[in-house]
Amino acid sequence: MTRRALVVEKPGTIRVRQLPALEPGPDEVIIRPAYCGVCRTDLELLRGEIDPAYVRYPLTLGHEWSGTIEAVGADVEALLPGDRCVAECIVPCGRCSFCKAGDTNVCEIYEELGFTREGGASDQVLVPARLVHKLEPSTSLLDAALVEPCSVVLRALEKAGPKSGDRVLVVGDGTIGLLAAYLVSLWSPSEVTMLGRRPEQAQLAKSVGVAAFETSGGNPGTFDLAIEAVGVAEAVATSIGAVRRGGRVVLLGLPPAGQTLELPADMLVNNDLTIAASFGYTSAAWGRMVDLVNAGRVQPGRIATHRFPLEAFAKAFAALESLEGTRGKILLEIAGEDH
Ligand SMILES: [Zn+2]
Ligand SMILES: [Zn+2]
Repeated sequence: MTRRALVVEKPGTIRVRQLPALEPGPDEVIIRPAYCGVCRTDLELLRGEIDPAYVRYPLTLGHEWSGTIEAVGADVEALLPGDRCVAECIVPCGRCSFCKAGDTNVCEIYEELGFTREGGASDQVLVPARLVHKLEPSTSLLDAALVEPCSVVLRALEKAGPKSGDRVLVVGDGTIGLLAAYLVSLWSPSEVTMLGRRPEQAQLAKSVGVAAFETSGGNPGTFDLAIEAVGVAEAVATSIGAVRRGGRVVLLGLPPAGQTLELPADMLVNNDLTIAASFGYTSAAWGRMVDLVNAGRVQPGRIATHRFPLEAFAKAFAALESLEGTRGKILLEIAGEDH
């Protein structure tokens, strides 16, 4: 028995390989992915641009996926073959002081599916059972495939603490920006503005609740909360400059390693700013995100714009890099909805 897996052999070399089928250990489950999202991080993994401390080549891509359980280990309770599920891809140790405090995203040991362990861009993926979250029968696997980026956004928003009636600026019109605009509505802001780069994204932005889509300006000094979702120093500066005195800024994008930022230092204090930055997601934030999707309160699959079969991964990466057309979430369709 073999399975297909989308493997980055080493930076610059990617192909679909036939690998031996997986068997679960006592506390593990084997999941058959239905959909697997791709994002800029996958491109950076392919190019070898991610800090080597966070990567182990050859690597099977896929850190944003949903699927159906195929097999469970001998000691696994409460999960059965056929259960539809998602799984946290960050694998925390559960024993260090950070894990014990609930800060599993900064666990002393970094392990993540799609980075240091095999990811979900495959016919099978092996996951510790403790990281698996079951889906309701009414929850679509397409919506569920976006739980990962949604959890990243939710964790950041929870850290920033939006308030009802806030005027919110989202800097960035990519997937994370779109999901931030969408999920911040859970806090009932008075208005969400998006500062984007490409007018082709305006319609998609509107579909997730953005009232005003702009490609320049951003009205400095007027917003209660700014969410940086680009990951370049310039956007960080724009976000910090966009909030009113007493305002809050949350940084979600990851700028290239070593990039520095110049700011008028007195402004942060004079303007009484609160600045938060957020890495990944905690187990708790992931659980809350699954609850929201299972309850039907959000349908993040609405921003999916491209789907490709696993073998057409090159088209998925080309779409990711393309500067033309509307682009929301790009997904590899592995087993699809009916499996
Ligand atoms: Zn991603
Ligand atoms: Zn830990």
